Amino acid sequence: MNDWQPTTCMRCAVGCGHLQRGADDGYGVSEARGNPAHPASNGLKCQRGIQETVNPGGERLTEPLVRRGGTLQPTDWDTALGIVAARFIEALSNSGDTIAVLGSGQQTNEAAYALGKLARGGFGTPYYDANTTLCMASAVTAYFQAFGSDAPPPTYEDIPKADTHLLWGANPAAAHPVLYHWITNSASQEGGQLLVVDPVESETASDADLHIQPEPGTDLALARAVLACCIDRDAIATEFVDTNTTGFERMVDSLPDIETAATQAGVSLADIETIADALTAPTLVYWGMGVNQSVQGTATARALIDLCLATGNLGPGSGPFSLTGQANSMGARVCSSKGTWPGQREFTETENRKRVAGMWDVPLSRLPESPGPGFVGIVDDLARGEIDVCWTVATNPAAGMPDASYVRTVLEDSFLVAQDAFYSDTVACADVVLPAATWGESEGTVINMERRVSRLTAAADPPGNTRPDLDIIATIGNRVEPGLFDDPPLDPESVFEEVRELTAGTKADLAGISYGRLADELAVRWPAPDAESEGGYRYYTDGNWSFYTDSGLAGFSTATHSTVPEPVTESYPLTLTTGRCAGVYNTGVRSQESANDGLPTVRMHSLTVGDYLGSFDRGRTVITSRRGSVMVDTQVDDGIPPGIVWIPIHNAAVNELTLPAVDPESDEPNLKQCAVRIGPPSRANTDFDTGSASVESR
Ligand code: SF4
Repeated sequence: MNDWQPTTCMRCAVGCGHLQRGADDGYGVSEARGNPAHPASNGLKCQRGIQETVNPGGERLTEPLVRRGGTLQPTDWDTALGIVAARFIEALSNSGDTIAVLGSGQQTNEAAYALGKLARGGFGTPYYDANTTLCMASAVTAYFQAFGSDAPPPTYEDIPKADTHLLWGANPAAAHPVLYHWITNSASQEGGQLLVVDPVESETASDADLHIQPEPGTDLALARAVLACCIDRDAIATEFVDTNTTGFERMVDSLPDIETAATQAGVSLADIETIADALTAPTLVYWGMGVNQSVQGTATARALIDLCLATGNLGPGSGPFSLTGQANSMGARVCSSKGTWPGQREFTETENRKRVAGMWDVPLSRLPESPGPGFVGIVDDLARGEIDVCWTVATNPAAGMPDASYVRTVLEDSFLVAQDAFYSDTVACADVVLPAATWGESEGTVINMERRVSRLTAAADPPGNTRPDLDIIATIGNRVEPGLFDDPPLDPESVFEEVRELTAGTKADLAGISYGRLADELAVRWPAPDAESEGGYRYYTDGNWSFYTDSGLAGFSTATHSTVPEPVTESYPLTLTTGRCAGVYNTGVRSQESANDGLPTVRMHSLTVGDYLGSFDRGRTVITSRRGSVMVDTQVDDGIPPGIVWIPIHNAAVNELTLPAVDPESDEPNLKQCAVRIGPPSRANTDFDTGSASVESR
C-alpha cells in the first residue's frame, strides 16, 4: 500500500491541501482527501477536486506522436524531440521572434519558470504567454496600475471578518466550492450579507440577499453609478483617501450622473443605493471572468478597486479580491517571465534585465524588448506568417480562444508542437505531441489565489512514456541552447532555488520559502523575504500604508462606460453570454469524458423562446454570430433575462461564436458578450452579416 502524500489540489486556485495515495498497480492516484494540517483549507475539499484527481475523464496521452500522412502516429521521444529541436533551430536561424510559446496556469512554478527562461532567454521571443490574457490579465493590469503590484491585498483570513460579500461577475458556487463555503458561512452570520452582480441567475446568485442584473458588458457603468452614489451620500473615507491615495478629485470629476449610468447598465436606482449602503460595512469585493473578459475589463477592475479605496474598504476584513481560475495562474505570473520578470520585476527596466540575463547566463540583447501580445495577438501574427513555430504547454487555445474556427485553422496551418497530459482540440491540430505527466505524478510548487506557495508531490508514477513538463522543457532547451539548464531529469528543488534567488528583494519575494520550510509548514504566503516571515494583508504594516507606485500612494482611475464592442442589431438581435457549470473545468479535457461529444445546452428565458418559436425543433436550435454557427439543445430558464442566451464555456463549440475583440490595456478578449441570432436546425445560418459590427474584423 502506498503512503499518503501531502500535496495540493490542482483543480482550481483555491489551492486546498490534499493527501493523495497512488494506485498499487498501474498509474494514477487511487485515493485523495483533504489534509487537515494544510493552512489554506484545514482539511476542506470539494467533491469535484477529488473526482478529477482520482478519476479524471478525458483521453490520456501516453506516447509521443508525430503527424505522418495527415494523421498523428506514435513515435519515440528521440524522434519527437529531434523534430521539435530541428524546427526550433531552423526558426531561430531567422530570429527569436519566429517562435511562439503558449504556457498555462496548470504548470508548476518550476515548469512555468523553466518555460519562461527558455522562451525569453533561450529563444528571445516576445511571443510568449502563460494563459494570463485569457483569464486574469485585466485584474493583474488593474492591480499594477492602482497599487504598483499584482495580487489581491486580502487573504482567506479576511473572509470571516467581512460583513458584506459583494460578488461581481463570478460564480464561486460552481468554480470555487471551498472558497464559496467560507463566503456563505460569513455572509450568514448576523450582520452579514451576500450581494451578487451577474446578468444571469447563477448558482451563486440564487443564494444572494440581493441579485443585481446589469446588461452584459455594462459592469463599468454600474460600478461608476455606485461610486457616484457613495459620493452623493458622503459615504467616503475622507481621511484614508487624503492620506493614502492619489487622483480622487480627477476620478470624481469623471463620474457620470447616477441616472445615466444606471440606465446604461439597466439597473434600478434602488439596487445602486443598496450596494452603496452595503459598502459602509467592512466589504470584500470579489470578481471573476465576468469582469475580466471584456474590452473594458481593466477599467472595470479598477473601478471596483476605486470603490474599495473611496469607501475605506482596504484593510483587514475588506478589499478587492479577484478570484483566480487556474490552479497556478499566480505562479505563472510570479515565476514565468510573461508580463514581468520573476518576482514582478518590471519588464523594460534595465537593471532587472541585466539581473535576469546574468542569472540565466544569456546575452542581455537576447531578451525581448516587450512582453509581447496576448494569445489573440499571437494567433493573429501566426496567421500573418510572422511566426514559424508554435509550442503549446498544458493549454488548449483551439477550444478556449474566441473565434475558435479561425484559431484552429491558424494552428493547423502552422507547425504546432502540443505538450499536454490529455488529448484536446489543440492536440488534434498538432504536428508533434509531447505527452506530459500531470498532477499527482509531478513534483514542484504552486501558488494559490491568496499568494500561498504550496508543495505539489507525486503520489503516483506517470503512465506509459510520459515525462514531467520540466524535463521536456529542459531537454528541448538544452538541444536548442546548450547549457541553459542542468542535464535532465531536473531536480525541481534546484529550479525553485533559482526562483528564490531571482525573486529575493522583489515585490513578490519567495526567498524565505524553501522546500524544507514547505515540508514543515505545507504552505507559506509571499512576500516572505526570510525563513521566519510570511505575507499577510498587503501594503499595510503597523497601521501604515505603502504602495509600490511611484508616489507610494494607491491610485484612482477615471474610465467610464463605452458601448459594448458588438451591440445587438436587427440581424443579430440577441446577446450571448457565457458561464461555468459546476462539474466541468475550462475546456473540459479532463473533467468530463463527454464534454465535447454532446451539444452544448443553452439557457434562455421562456419569453425569448416564445419570440422565436419557429427556430426550435424539439428543443434544438442553431445559434449564429458573425463568426460561426452552433447547434445547441435548449433549456428554458427564467433566470436568464429575455434577450440573452447563456452558454457554458466547457464545450469547444462555444467559441465558434465569441468575439476576439480585446481589452487594449490587458489584451484579454471580450468573451462574455457578443451579438447572435437563433434559427431552425434545418437551416444552418452561415450567411454571416458582417456589416454592422462596431469592431474591426480580422
Ligand atoms: S475548491 Fe478547488 S482546490 Fe479545493 S478541492 Fe475543490 S477544486 Fe480542489
